[in-house]
Amino acid sequence: MSYQYDLFVIGAGSGGVRASRIAAGKGYKVAVAEANALGGTCVNIGCVPKKLFVYGSEFSHSFKDSKGYGWENVSGTFNWPVLRDNKTAEIQRLNGIYQSMLEKAGVEIINGYARFVDEHTVEVNGTQYTAEKILVAVGGKPFIPEFTGSDLVVSSNEMFFLDVLPSKALVVGGGYIAVEFAGILNGLGVDTTLAYRGAQVLRGFDQDIRDFAQEEYKKAGVNLQVNTDVDSIRLADDTQPNGDRIVRFKDGTEKTFGLILYATGRVPYTDTLNLHAAGIAQEKGAIKVDNNFQTNVPSVFAIGDVINRLQLTPVAIGEAMALISYWFDGKAVEFDYDNVPTAVFSQPQIGTVGLSEEEAEKRGHNFRVYQSDFRAMKHTLSGSTERTLMKMLVDNDTDVVIGAHMVGDYAGEIIQGLGIALKAGATKADFDSTVGVHPTSAEEFVTFSEGALKKR
Ligand code: NDP
Repeated sequence: MSYQYDLFVIGAGSGGVRASRIAAGKGYKVAVAEANALGGTCVNIGCVPKKLFVYGSEFSHSFKDSKGYGWENVSGTFNWPVLRDNKTAEIQRLNGIYQSMLEKAGVEIINGYARFVDEHTVEVNGTQYTAEKILVAVGGKPFIPEFTGSDLVVSSNEMFFLDVLPSKALVVGGGYIAVEFAGILNGLGVDTTLAYRGAQVLRGFDQDIRDFAQEEYKKAGVNLQVNTDVDSIRLADDTQPNGDRIVRFKDGTEKTFGLILYATGRVPYTDTLNLHAAGIAQEKGAIKVDNNFQTNVPSVFAIGDVINRLQLTPVAIGEAMALISYWFDGKAVEFDYDNVPTAVFSQPQIGTVGLSEEEAEKRGHNFRVYQSDFRAMKHTLSGSTERTLMKMLVDNDTDVVIGAHMVGDYAGEIIQGLGIALKAGATKADFDSTVGVHPTSAEEFVTFSEGALKKR
């Protein structure tokens, strides 16, 4: 049986673009179908524009911090359309780079939603395409629970294109997206409330990191309301659909906001795929794959957020590369989901790699914890009360560092370096014999002594 393509990729996000490009470079005839802009969530409505917004919102803190350094009368008025539109122009530039990258690699780009016809055939805009292999890399989409007034909220998708910035906003949720956008809105001068249904945001992160970050968010100006659930939402004035919203909380209190962002998780985006036509199995909404990203249908593979393992761009790219190796080198490369470093671009940032204290206990490690919190040097003159937390877990039996966590400036940058150390199996002795970079906050990780041992 001959097919039109060796590989048909559905979705030109981080994983899909990488797989298409490399497969085409290695001689496959490849097509990729994408209904929206090239680059997917990360480039268009995720990591990249989010980080630009974070940079934009950090200036207000810098303005305040600058006074102790001798700067006078530094303040300003914030112009939302300038940030929004400059961001959009930059994203369009990146879309162009993705397009030329794919074209140069010889990948055919097909604009539209692809749906399965059978295990070797998909249909896009009424045209059928056959391929020996089909890779699903469609990512995820925001999940918003249904309740009275849920149509009056926005998801992170809309946050990147708001016509106006509200003066008062509510963010619901306690994950990455909720804390990141709470920081962005707060930094841009919006009166921001973060409402989380549990006792503490960032479930799954190290407990000390959660405690510490939560306090820092409050100090930075976010009105954090924990154990708080929304009951219903209504318009303040029915004739003003874009006007204020009144939120009724489950404790019976009511508050008015100009904007309500629901950051209550993301789910695999399988709705448009017609998966049953090819008999592709799912598990809790995600496409089910084995260690080689192969579904129950041998010709169909899936990577990235649609398989719902770790919803992170570099993980999707890593999965694409593991799959390429499986296809072209005949090597079954198991992607290693351990020691994946990650950062939350909240204000302050969180960086983390390896095991949390709770996870280390659960896995039965015999370990010790080094921990310290301090005022970073910058804030000795700025007057800011912001503090930095660093924490390191060491296995007592092997001396191997099994976890490193941080809240504070540059946490994402610092934890990237530590990620290499943990991946390489570095011991506490290796950390100790590493010369610190002075004066930095990061040197704390190579100077932890007995005095920093946490009593457990
Ligand atoms: P998360 O799964 O991280 O968090 C969802 C939050 O919403 C949780 O606090 C959850 O509470 C809460 N929630 C879920 N359902 C409801 C509900 N019905 N009512 C009220 N609250 C609810 O999702 P995000 O949307 O923040 O992000 C999705 C993923 O995207 C992340 O897990 C991450 O992998 C990725 N991401 C990564 C970023 C980065 O690397 N910097 C940035 C942004 C996203 P509870 O804890 O109680 O379940």
